[in-house]
Amino acid sequence: MRNPDDILLEALQQLENIGSLAELDQVKARYLGKNGALTELLKGLGKMPSETRREAGGRINQAKEKLELALKAAKEAIREAQLQAQLARESLDVTLPGRRIGRGGRHPISRTQERIENLFGSIGFDVADGPELETDFYNFTALNFPPDHPARTMHDTFYLEDGYLLRTHTSPVQVRYMENHQPPLKVIAPGKAYRCDSDLTHSPMFHQVEGLWVDERINFAELKGVLTDFMRRFFEQDNLRSRFRPSFFPFTEPSAEMDISCVACGGKGCRVCSHTGWLEILGCGMVHPHVLRSAGADPEQVLGFAFGMGIERLAMLRYGVNDLRLFFENDLRFLQQFH
Ligand SMILES: [Zn+2]
Repeated sequence: MRNPDDILLEALQQLENIGSLAELDQVKARYLGKNGALTELLKGLGKMPSETRREAGGRINQAKEKLELALKAAKEAIREAQLQAQLARESLDVTLPGRRIGRGGRHPISRTQERIENLFGSIGFDVADGPELETDFYNFTALNFPPDHPARTMHDTFYLEDGYLLRTHTSPVQVRYMENHQPPLKVIAPGKAYRCDSDLTHSPMFHQVEGLWVDERINFAELKGVLTDFMRRFFEQDNLRSRFRPSFFPFTEPSAEMDISCVACGGKGCRVCSHTGWLEILGCGMVHPHVLRSAGADPEQVLGFAFGMGIERLAMLRYGVNDLRLFFENDLRFLQQFH
């Protein structure tokens, strides 16, 4: 018979090297299981002569009890170690600074649009809205773009099914507004417009504001006065100068491009104005008689002026932003500067 104390010693040595409950179960099975080393010794007792059986049985049971105690202690040690590891893993450092909740802010385009609405609102202009999904009639025909007019090709239009299109400018709103309001009327229509165009200075979706003043005696001098005054107040530059260059738009006659003295250098010449001292800022003109007629007004009775400008362009100049794409990337590092 193998000496039970030797078996016990061997088992205790194995227990010293285990790290998990699974390994502990293996040791237990190896010595106390159905075919374990100590169990086998007990099974062999029956074949022993009765005079030695008693003494041998006592030694085997003693070894068995000691091993059971050692197993129990080892099991508790492993559980304790596992608990400590879990606590360390899940511990919270309450002295760490908390994560702040982000503070929202108005997008610079929205802020610019609101500023434009407030400035025109202060001199009696209404703010009107219109659909972005338009018909050919409101986007082109009513604005004096006949079906085969070459000016249509200036607009890279997104056409949809059933004759619909995404409006290429906010000008359709002036026709819709005149259909429902009688002169005298003063209105601006800010909103989104779409053209199939994308590069450093063009985005397929952009914002425009359209303006219209129709009354019995509206003339070009009033157009110049209203727009120059608006630019001075928008850019907060009392000595801002303006100039008007002849241009062409189907829906106005005569038409003009308005330039303002550079808001960055005051007209001395800089990179913003390509060293000319002037910035192109908007298109405008006296409403074409065809447009007045399309909208149900009598060009013999009333006159009007209209203008349209890009909100992105105004925002870039006012905030000194030099890349149009920054407005659409929604990078928080950019937007947070406008809080
Ligand atoms: Zn300049």
